[in-house]
Amino acid sequence: MGHDVKHWINGREEAGTGSTQPILNPATGEETRTLHLGDAATVDRAVEVAVAAQREWAQVSLAKRTQVFYRMRQLVIDATDEIAEVISQEHGKTVGDAKGEIARGLETLEFATSITQDLKGGFSENVSTGVDAHTMRQPLGVVAGITPFNFPAMVPFWMHPVALATGNAFLLKPSERDPSASNIVARLYQEAGLPDGVFQVIHGGKDTVDALCTHDDVSAVSFVGSTPIAKHVHATASAAGKRVQALGGANNHAVVMPDANIEFAASQVASGAFGSAGERCMAVPVAVTVGDIHDEFLAAITAEAEKLVVGPGDDEKTDMPPVITAEARERVIRMTDEAEKAGGRVVVDGRGLVVEGYENGNFVGPTVITDLDRSHATYTDEVFGPLLVVMQVDNFDDALELVNSSPFGNGTAIFTDSGHYARRYQEEVQVGMIGINVPIPTPVGYYSFGGWKDSLFGEHHAHGPEGLSFYTKQKAVTTRWPSQNETVESSMSFPTH
Ligand code: NAD
Repeated sequence: MGHDVKHWINGREEAGTGSTQPILNPATGEETRTLHLGDAATVDRAVEVAVAAQREWAQVSLAKRTQVFYRMRQLVIDATDEIAEVISQEHGKTVGDAKGEIARGLETLEFATSITQDLKGGFSENVSTGVDAHTMRQPLGVVAGITPFNFPAMVPFWMHPVALATGNAFLLKPSERDPSASNIVARLYQEAGLPDGVFQVIHGGKDTVDALCTHDDVSAVSFVGSTPIAKHVHATASAAGKRVQALGGANNHAVVMPDANIEFAASQVASGAFGSAGERCMAVPVAVTVGDIHDEFLAAITAEAEKLVVGPGDDEKTDMPPVITAEARERVIRMTDEAEKAGGRVVVDGRGLVVEGYENGNFVGPTVITDLDRSHATYTDEVFGPLLVVMQVDNFDDALELVNSSPFGNGTAIFTDSGHYARRYQEEVQVGMIGINVPIPTPVGYYSFGGWKDSLFGEHHAHGPEGLSFYTKQKAVTTRWPSQNETVESSMSFPTH
């Protein structure tokens, strides 16, 4: 990959007509590459290419389409080191974590290889005598995906394999912070035999997003990112008549019951709170202790936080990498300051951490805060950094009430030995994805991923069966083949069987 990251249009890199901006390494603050930003003209050009390419792609047999995904799966496996290295450079996460997200992304490619099964319609013989009915699912046309910085490989993979396998052309607008992985994926699709123009990448920010959301020839928009932008994309693209799924932010709670294995729960919550510096949509920024285990849990989570090695993502010893930008680092520090001023107790303090040799990096240490009022923004807002708030409640009902009062409903976990409470929790909690003794319950590729409330706008969750129905329209066909000499009296009444 060269120093410049350009759009990928019609099977090759193009500079487009917009401006440029630097891509920074979060561990060093240095510019790694220059990104070419798109604008409405870039979007027009890519959509025009996509419209023509999609017409032909939709006619390619299911067997031939499937072969593309088998080849692509192997190409992505072979290119894992290359993709993980570039993700680590631009996002900051550890190379191991980047490989993990690529592996999770492969699940949806694997799902796409079974499209021959999943696109089968239903058929009923003799719904009325001599009349049959069947259904079929057809592609939408050109669809767009707009994705966040925190999973530059996995989140786009939630979208494009399913969109492409079902016969659509896909336009990806990745995060401008870590865009390079998407260009590698585009090159691999070409090597896998996907026709040019069926998968394209357009880089950029708000202008590019708005142009995609309002373009007449874009039929659907999949978005993943923060709640304010998810609302904006949902409103803008819906008003322009498009099908939209817009996945937003999160503030996931882990409830720790008095009967839980506290050490196990603390180690799992620590991985949810501090893994990838807390920059996961399924991170665990809030733990809720139930009953009299608060001090024991605080001691255990403190021990977990204090043993973490903070450093650059390309150092094998690193447990926790930097956050994405200097602003993100400042936000974690400011929200810790404000919590402390409001009476919160900072049990583990990540402010002031300096990583030797990386003084310009966006490092902040793991932070644990407790005794915070439930109305404080450091608890209620999405911080999106390595900051864990530990809340205390008396009983299960209070924990449930606290979790359900959050405007977000992406993921949650309960740590318990009690099947009774685990069952009540999964039934009564107002959240889309639930872990029982599992801290980051990200559904596998053949299920679907999505939250409730302010964590998702639109009807469909991402990938798996819901992705398949998002990227297709259903037709129901009713058929009758009368013989040449068959006569029936005409009737003006509504047909019944
Ligand atoms: P973001 O909302 O800032 O950006 C997401 C995308 O929107 C990017 O492609 C960006 O270029 C574009 N964008 C940014 N500002 C825009 C604007 N004003 N108008 C139009 N488009 C704009 O999110 P981020 O900081 O890249 O990612 C972190 C956020 O994503 C967190 O809130 C996290 O919870 C969320 N997230 C959610 C999920 C989920 O599944 N629900 C998954 C991953 C990340």
